[in-house]
Formats: sequence, C-alpha cells, structure tokens
Amino acid sequence: MNEYDSNRILDLTKKINYFVTKKLDEANCYILNTCHIREKATDKVYHDIGRVKKEFRNKKKPIVLVTGCVAQAEGDILLKKEKYIDAVIGPQSYHQINSTILNLEKKIKPLNLTEFDVIEKFDSLNSLKNSNNKISSYLTIQEGCDKFCKFCVVPYTRGAEFSRSIKELLLEANQLVENGAKEITLLGQNVNAYNYKSKKLSNLIIELSKIKNLKRIRYTTSHPRDFTEDLIEAHKDCKKLMPSIHLPVQSGSNKILESMNRRHSIEEYLDVIEKLKNVNPEIKFSSDFIIGYPGETEEDFQMTLALLKNVHFINSYSYLYSPRPGTPAFNLTLVNQKIAKERLYIFQNVAEKIKSEYRQKLVNKKSIVLFENKIQNENKFFGRDEFFNSVIVKSEKNLIGTIQSVKILKINRNTLFGELISNFNQKNCAA
Ligand code: SF4
Repeated sequence: MNEYDSNRILDLTKKINYFVTKKLDEANCYILNTCHIREKATDKVYHDIGRVKKEFRNKKKPIVLVTGCVAQAEGDILLKKEKYIDAVIGPQSYHQINSTILNLEKKIKPLNLTEFDVIEKFDSLNSLKNSNNKISSYLTIQEGCDKFCKFCVVPYTRGAEFSRSIKELLLEANQLVENGAKEITLLGQNVNAYNYKSKKLSNLIIELSKIKNLKRIRYTTSHPRDFTEDLIEAHKDCKKLMPSIHLPVQSGSNKILESMNRRHSIEEYLDVIEKLKNVNPEIKFSSDFIIGYPGETEEDFQMTLALLKNVHFINSYSYLYSPRPGTPAFNLTLVNQKIAKERLYIFQNVAEKIKSEYRQKLVNKKSIVLFENKIQNENKFFGRDEFFNSVIVKSEKNLIGTIQSVKILKINRNTLFGELISNFNQKNCAA
C-alpha cells in the first residue's frame, strides 16, 4: 500500500511542480513515506534523515517531510526529537501535501497533519489521473481496520475501515489499464471487508473483470472472518481472478488466536480453505505467522506446525513476535526468547521444505506467465505465473505485457526458469 501511496503522492506534487529525482543531492523536498509494521521503523526514520542531513551539510536544506504510519503513530515525538523534519503527515492526510510544501516554502513550520481525513483524501485524489504505468499495478480499494488484533498497530495508524466507491475505483482501474496495466492487485488492510453501500469485494471484482484489456485480478490482504460465500463463488465464476490467496492465520492454536483477538478459530479458517478448494481445486494459499506470541506453549507451537503441514502453504511469512508500542499486547510477558527463536527456526525449515517440494513439482510443467519487464542488458524477461511465482525466460522478442505459456526447466529458491512453449503468436495478452 505504501508503494501505491508513494505513487499517488508523486501524482499530487506534480501539480505544484515538484517532480521525482533520483539524485538525492538535487532534491528541494525530501519525502520519507514510512511503514510502521516492521520492527525499529522509527529508528530507520532517524537513520534516513541523518543521511539527508549529511548530504545537505554544505547546501541549502531541503523541505523534509515524514509521511505514512510512523508519522501517524509518532509524529509529535519525531518533530520534537529531530528538528530537521519540517512536517509529519499521516496516511489519511497526504492529500494536504501540496499545501504543506507551499506553507513550508513560506517557512511556516513545524506541522503535524495526522487527522483521519480519509474521505477528503480520496476526494482529492479522484480528481487526479493515476499515472502509474506498470504492467502489474496496485489499486487501494479499502483502508483501515476494525478488528483490533492485540499485536497490531494498523487500527491506530490507518484508522477505521473505509471503502471507496465502485464508481471511482472503476475510473481509476480504467486509467491504469489505459496506462498499460494488464494486472491489478486490489489493496486493503482488510481487503475482503470491502463494503461500499452494500456492494462487496465480489461485486467489485465482477465489475472490474468487464474491463477488456485487464487480464488478471488479485487482492490482498484478506481476513478469514470476511471470506463470505459470494467471494468464494467469485473464485469459481471469474476467470480473471488469480488462484492464489494470501490468508493470514498467525497461529495454529485457538487459545493463541483468542488471546490475539483474531476473531476466528482454526476450524473456521480451515472451513474457508476447504470451500475455496471445492470451487477451484487449483487454488494455492500463502499465510503470515507470528511465532512466540505471549503465552505460546510448546503445544500451541506444535499446532501451528501441524497447520502449516496440513494446508501446504506455498509461501509462509513467519516472524518472531515483537511488541509494538501502543498496542494492547505491548506489556504482555514475552515467551523465553531462546525458545521462541528455536521455534521460528524449526517453523521456517518446515515451511521452506514445503515450498521447495511444491516448486520442484513445477519442473517440466506448463505455467501461464504475464511478463512485466525485461532484465537489463539481457534478452530475458521477468513475469509472474498465476500463483505469483517469479518466472524468467529468454526471448529475442519483446514479451512485456503479454501472457505466454512457459515450460519450467529449472528452479531456484525464489525464481522459476523456463522456455516459451508457444510460438510468439499471442499478440497482446490473450488470456
Ligand atoms: S485484521 Fe490485520 S490489520 Fe486488522 S488489526 Fe488484525 S492484523 Fe492488524
């Protein structure tokens, strides 16, 4: 979502004649768009600002803005501690970026803009064409979260759940397709909680699938509780909807899920998976796991391991629990860290084995790949198959923006290498 936000920030600043530069020392304005999910996010901000300070030691200071979720969560502290920062702007206030820059040009500072103006933000953005021109583009359809998992900062940084209207999303999706997008990934912290005047994610997907030159639709990140029957049915009916689903579970133990306030049980989670497999047996799953959450016993951990083996996730993103300031879980007693690290090690080894077995089975099989770009200075093209695996093939002809059948010849940990099966006869994306 930060990538989407950063692109939209650039669309906004063009209006006041601020354009992107790759040369840091040329910048008149430095915008650091931050994410608060990972550990030590605030330290990274100070480190980055230090780098800018050093670069501009003997030059005119640029305007320095910190945007995104760190600005939202720790804006006042940042402004107090690092005077080099001119303004902090939360993720629901970045539509005010131009007026902020213009104020700062007039030396009005420091500024803290961290209100939750999400309606106003999207109203401002809707008047601006989305200029992103990637083959695979992002589109934010929903923001915020009402679930309040005890370990998570999102409800406090992105605010309450908000869904954009189908009309404005179709308009923006059409802009992205006109710019060359063949695939759109719909984004939301709780993407399947999308609900605009009773229209749900399944309704939006069906509308988007009518865009002729849009060939693939994905969405992330889902919550098991919001996986309603209509969305499951959409996976049967909509051929443009890709058969890979990222469905975070966090733990395999009902006791831990309850203490996390996840609002779903393992049985409910597995029920969603079974229903999706029933409508399309090809669907593959990936998930997020927190290992060593406060209160996790060996038995709880074994349940998580059993779930991993049972579902055969093709990608498992696992992290050692680390407390986030301001969350209800912050003060809970940590699991012995040596034990927690050992569990993470065991978990990641099993996850890697499952992933590698899955990928090994792809060798000598056919993959359907949407090619996104050319590898610099080589006649090789990069794309993704329907399950979001990275694929590289050699080709003398330009494959960008086309969907091709590829025979997978070999694999490494992160990439599949193959050769084109068909002659080059699919002019431009004939999915
Ligand atoms: S559902 Fe996701 S975004 Fe919402 S609080 Fe839980 S982990 Fe955070």
